[in-house]
Amino acid sequence: MTTTTLPDYDAAVAAFEPVIGLETHVELGTNTKMFCGCPTDFGGEPNTRVCPVCLGLPGALPVANKAAIEATIRIGLALNCSIATWCRFARKNYFYPDMPKNFQISQYDEPLCVDGYLDVEVDGRTVRIGIERVHLEEDTGKTLHVGGATGRIHGATESLVDYNRAGIPLVEIVTKPVPGAGALAPEIARAYVTELRDILRGLGVSDVRMEEGSLRCDVNTSLNRPGEEWGTRTETKNVNSLRSVERAVRSEIIRQAAVLESGGRIIQETRHFSEETGDTRPGRSKEEATDYRYFPEPDLVPLAPDPQWVEELRAALPEAPRVHRKRLQEAWGLSDLDMRSVVNAGAVELIEQTVAAGATAAAARKWWLGELARRANEDGIELSAVGATPAQVAELQTLVDGGKLNDKLARVVLEGVIAGEGSPTAVMEARGLAVVSDTGALTAAVDEAIAANPDVAAKVRDGKVAAAGALVGAVMKTTKGQADAKTVRELILERLGAN
Ligand SMILES: [Zn+2]
Repeated sequence: MTTTTLPDYDAAVAAFEPVIGLETHVELGTNTKMFCGCPTDFGGEPNTRVCPVCLGLPGALPVANKAAIEATIRIGLALNCSIATWCRFARKNYFYPDMPKNFQISQYDEPLCVDGYLDVEVDGRTVRIGIERVHLEEDTGKTLHVGGATGRIHGATESLVDYNRAGIPLVEIVTKPVPGAGALAPEIARAYVTELRDILRGLGVSDVRMEEGSLRCDVNTSLNRPGEEWGTRTETKNVNSLRSVERAVRSEIIRQAAVLESGGRIIQETRHFSEETGDTRPGRSKEEATDYRYFPEPDLVPLAPDPQWVEELRAALPEAPRVHRKRLQEAWGLSDLDMRSVVNAGAVELIEQTVAAGATAAAARKWWLGELARRANEDGIELSAVGATPAQVAELQTLVDGGKLNDKLARVVLEGVIAGEGSPTAVMEARGLAVVSDTGALTAAVDEAIAANPDVAAKVRDGKVAAAGALVGAVMKTTKGQADAKTVRELILERLGAN
C-alpha cells in the first residue's frame, strides 16, 4: 500500500470535480409489516413480532400492504416523480442471516416512482437534484454480535438475530448523479437529506429518526479531473446524522484525491463512515446488480395504481417545506440572509415550535442561533440534540420578559436546563438565580456601595446623575449579577436625594 500525503479539502476540489449521489432508505410508519400483519413498533422483545410470512416458513404467502404503497406514491409525488401505472416486485437473491427467506422482496427494473427532482438551497443557490427512482421493499432483521469489545463480528463470541424488523416496509430513494457541485458537494449532500427528511416528516409517512435508523443514507462519491470522464465511485454506508452526511462526503473527497494524486486507482467498494475519526474505512467490494439474480416476484400480483387514486393523493399533498419556510420567513420578518442562517443552523422547526409555545420570533431566534447554536457547535452535535426543548426556551424567555431573570442569569439557567436539572423555573428556584428586585434586600448592598465610594456618591449628590452607573456596577458585583439593575439605580438616586 502506498503512503500519501493527504491534500487538504481546498486542494482536492481545486484539482478534481466531485460527483455525488445519494441513496436513502426510509422505514415507513405503517401499523403492520410490508407483506404480513405483524406489528411494526420499535423496541419489542426480540423475535416476538414475527409470523410464518416474515420468517420465510414453507408455504407462507405475502400480501402487499396498501398503506405502504400509498405512502410510497405520496413520496414519489412530493418528489415530482412519474408514478408507474403498472409495475412489479422483484426478488433480490442473497444470503445473510438477518434475512430468513434468503431473498429480499424489492423492486428492480420496474420501480413504483421514477424520474423526479428535489430543489435544495445552498448558499443562496438553488440546486436541482434529480431523483432516479423511489421504490418499495422490505427491511431485514437485525444481527447483534456479542462478547466482543466493539459490537462488530470480529472478536464476538456469538451472534444473535432479531427478526422483529424483518419485513418492515422500506422505501428506497435514489438520486441521479449530481455533477457540478464543486466545493459545495458536502453541503449539497446535507441540504438534500435535510430537505428530504422535512418532506417525509411533512407527509407523515415515517418518524425519520436517523439515530434510530428509520432514515438511513448511503453516499456515493467519485472524482474526476476537469474535462475527463466521471471517476469510479465509492459508496459510504449508513451515515446516521445530517452532520455525518456532510463530513462523509468531505472526507471521501480528500481521501480519493490523495489516492489519485499519488497515481493510484479508486476501487469500487462500499465504505463505512466512522463518527469518531470522521473518515471512511473500506467495507466489501461492491456487488453488481446482476450478482443478485433479480427476477419478478412470483407470489405477488403486479401493482397497477388507479390513476384517479394517484390524482387524489396528489391533490391532498401537504404544503412543501420550501413553501412553508417562505411563509415563516414572512411571518418572522426575516431577510433572505437571516432566514438562510436559520435554515443552515437546522433551527426552522425549533424556532417555529418555540414561537408556538409563546415566545416572539426574535427571542426564539436569539436563543437558538445564539447560546444554543454555540453550545451545539462546541459539542459537535445537531442543534435539535442540544438538550433544551422549544417549550423550555419559551419558558426561559417568559422569565426574562417578566423581569425574573436578566440575560446573564438566563444563560446560567439554560446551562442547568441542558444539564438535565429540570425546567427553567425549577433551575432558577433550585439554584437561587432569580433577579432580586425586592428593595428591602437591595438597600443594604446599595448603602454599602455608597459608603465604599464616597467620591462617586458626592458627584451624584451634586446632580451628576450619570456617575450613578459606577455605584450600580458595584451593587451588581456584590450581588453576583442577580440584582435588578433598574431597581438598584432608583434606590441609589433615592438614597442620595438626586431624583
Ligand atoms: Zn410477519
